Amino acid sequence: MIDFEHVTKVYETKNDENVALEDINLHIEDGEFVFVLGHSGAGKSTFLKLMLLEEKCTEGTVTINGQDITHLKRRKVPYMRRQMGMVFQDFRLIPTMTAYENVAFAMRVTNIPTKQIQKRVPYVLGLVGLGDKMDRVPEELSGGEQQRVALARALAHSPKLIIADEPTGNIDPEMSFEMMELLSAINSVGVTVVVVTHAHELVHRFNKRVVTIDHGRIVSDTAEPYRETGYATAGAE
Ligand code: ADP
Repeated sequence: MIDFEHVTKVYETKNDENVALEDINLHIEDGEFVFVLGHSGAGKSTFLKLMLLEEKCTEGTVTINGQDITHLKRRKVPYMRRQMGMVFQDFRLIPTMTAYENVAFAMRVTNIPTKQIQKRVPYVLGLVGLGDKMDRVPEELSGGEQQRVALARALAHSPKLIIADEPTGNIDPEMSFEMMELLSAINSVGVTVVVVTHAHELVHRFNKRVVTIDHGRIVSDTAEPYRETGYATAGAE
């Protein structure tokens, strides 16, 4: 469960103040699949950074899985992050490591026993369809396959929540579609999925909830046909 309550984020720069998000109210239930759609500069990265505890909001409260992360103690941050699986736009794979090692490494750094790693890594790589390419390093894999390694790594800790940042950014449209189908399959086994993107066309090929951000505000939410702000354009279809 993700809750944004009256969340505002203002970046203070030397000469000016940048309002990146303004009075965001958003509730995402466990098991939902939500696209957060917006143009460049709309506030998508800021939204992600707040969830990943990379930034703190200026006003309001962000709650994830019942935990108010706005007031989270520093030492609890790594624990909180481990409950989320993150897929970055640029994959962030280690180039010298095979697909297997990339996933295993992410598990090793959190002190998961070797036996468990040896069992889990082939399983998650199999889930994303890379069971036969585990021994390849990233440069021996296509963009879409590298992204699937990144997804396998995000799944390694059995997170309840997967957050994907612009998963279509570095792959071709066909692969993007496959990636979305894969995320959909993961969602269908109960994992909450939040996909942040500017790819309007792709979003509308899937019948999912779409929250649109513009200039730091939610301007439409297909799950909420009417919003108090009056900005709503019910059902973006
Ligand atoms: P998006 O990811 O949708 O492109 P961002 O969240 O990166 O949008 O940015 C939203 C707004 O906040 C933009 O106007 C951007 O210039 C501003 N912004 C983002 N990060 C910073 C920062 N660290 N300092 C100042 N302004 C920032």
